[in-house]
Parts: sequence; structure tokens; C-alpha cells
Amino acid sequence: MRFVLLFLLLGLSSCDSVTEEETITGEYIFRKSDEQRYDLATLKPQNRPSYPWQEGSASSHKISKEYFRCKGSAMNPPHIVREGEKETARYNDCGGSDKHSLPLHNGNEFVYPILIDLLNRIQEVTGKPVIITSGHRCPDHNLYIDPSPANSGSKHQIGAEVDFYIKGLEGRPESAVKIIEDFYKSQARYQKQPEYQTFHRFERATNVSTQPWFNKEVFIKLFRANEGRNFDNRHPYPYISIQVRFDRASNLPVTCNWADAQKFLRR
Ligand SMILES: [Zn+2]
Repeated sequence: MRFVLLFLLLGLSSCDSVTEEETITGEYIFRKSDEQRYDLATLKPQNRPSYPWQEGSASSHKISKEYFRCKGSAMNPPHIVREGEKETARYNDCGGSDKHSLPLHNGNEFVYPILIDLLNRIQEVTGKPVIITSGHRCPDHNLYIDPSPANSGSKHQIGAEVDFYIKGLEGRPESAVKIIEDFYKSQARYQKQPEYQTFHRFERATNVSTQPWFNKEVFIKLFRANEGRNFDNRHPYPYISIQVRFDRASNLPVTCNWADAQKFLRR
């Protein structure tokens, strides 16, 4: 009987402890609306600093090497070459610019700076955006666009060539050539250097009907609306291509072969 009483008492006491816990009550903390644990600096709205490609007039962002990235895509269908009914070759496009870098120069992504300078000058003078239709082409994309042997040494592969038109001036591609000529006359770094300031016309036959222009540093070709159509240039407009002939930084002519183009690429 004593044991039973003892257990009953124990049971009751444990019940008591539970009820105690359940009945614990809290107190509200009252705080005034201007009371803070930490002092906060007064926040002021501020403008985000602009990215390099946002500099320039509102109608055209400043051209940077980012605009030159390869336009290949794994979504493109294979380029099939046929002779009559027979398939003779098949080329797949590259994986696109998120699968490989721009050409590398001393370990950094690189496009010849003269191309960027000239395109920005055209935007400044015209107040209209330059549309790059073909900047860097990795070797796979270059082959996909045009597998002919003549194209295998395309300087697009090393960031030394660009195709573009001017939005709003699509029908007047010659205006770009005039701006480029004026650029060489106005820049201090070309003063008293006639090999840069004077442009000549290229006399030999090419794949365009308009005689190209060239000075020591660049070679300019004008493709009419019915010329030079390829996978990157599927638009209906004439376009200009600028090729770098001579690198002022290294004082060497700019040439390209397929093996070099393969080598200077990060995948
Ligand atoms: Zn590519």
C-alpha cells in the first residue's frame, strides 16, 4: 500500500512539473520605433557604375571585344556538301562561344585593338550602331561557314578580321570606308606616316566587284548585297569586312593558318 502511494505521489509530482512548463509565460519586449540595436548609416540610392560596353551614346553601346565572340552554335544543322546526289563532306558547327574562348594572346582573350577602335569611331561619327555579323570564328565555325581551302586561313580565326554593317545606313557601306580613311588622317599616332594615312585600291581580282582599299595596317572589302553570303552573313545588306594586315605592337605582318588558330583557343 505504501508503494502504491509512493508511485501515485511520484506520478502526481511529474504531472505537476509538466503543467509548470506549460504555464511558463513570456514578457513582451517593448521598443520605441526609433530604437535600434545597431546604428545604420542612412542609405542613399546610387547609380551602378556602367560596364565598358555601355559607354557611348544612348543609341549605340561602345564596342568591346565581347561583341566579337564566335557566333557558332551546336543547334545549327550540319553543313552538308554534295556533288549531285552524293554527300561528299559534312561539317558540324562549334558548340558556341560558351564552349570556347576568344583567340588567346599571352594567355588573355584578344581581338586586334585597331578593329575595336575603328568600329567605335564609325559609331561616334554616324551616331548609329555597328552590327558585327562575324567577328571571331573558331576554326570549327570557320570551316562550317565555308569549307573551301581559300577560307582555311581566314583571319577571323585569330581576331584579326570583322564583318559588319551600320544599322540605319545599311545601303551606304562606303560611308564607313570614308570614316576609316579620316580616322587615319586625324590620329596623332599616324602623323607623318603616309603608309598609314594614304589608302590604295587593290588592283588584283578578288571575290568582290568593288576594288578593296588598303593601307599598311588594314585591308577593307565591300561586299554588295549579292556577294559574300555565308552562314554569319545571312542578312540582305551589303557589308564591310576589315582585315588587319600589320600589327603595330609587334611590328610584324599579321598572318593566320589553321594550326595557329587551333592553338590559341581555350576550350
Ligand atoms: Zn566557335
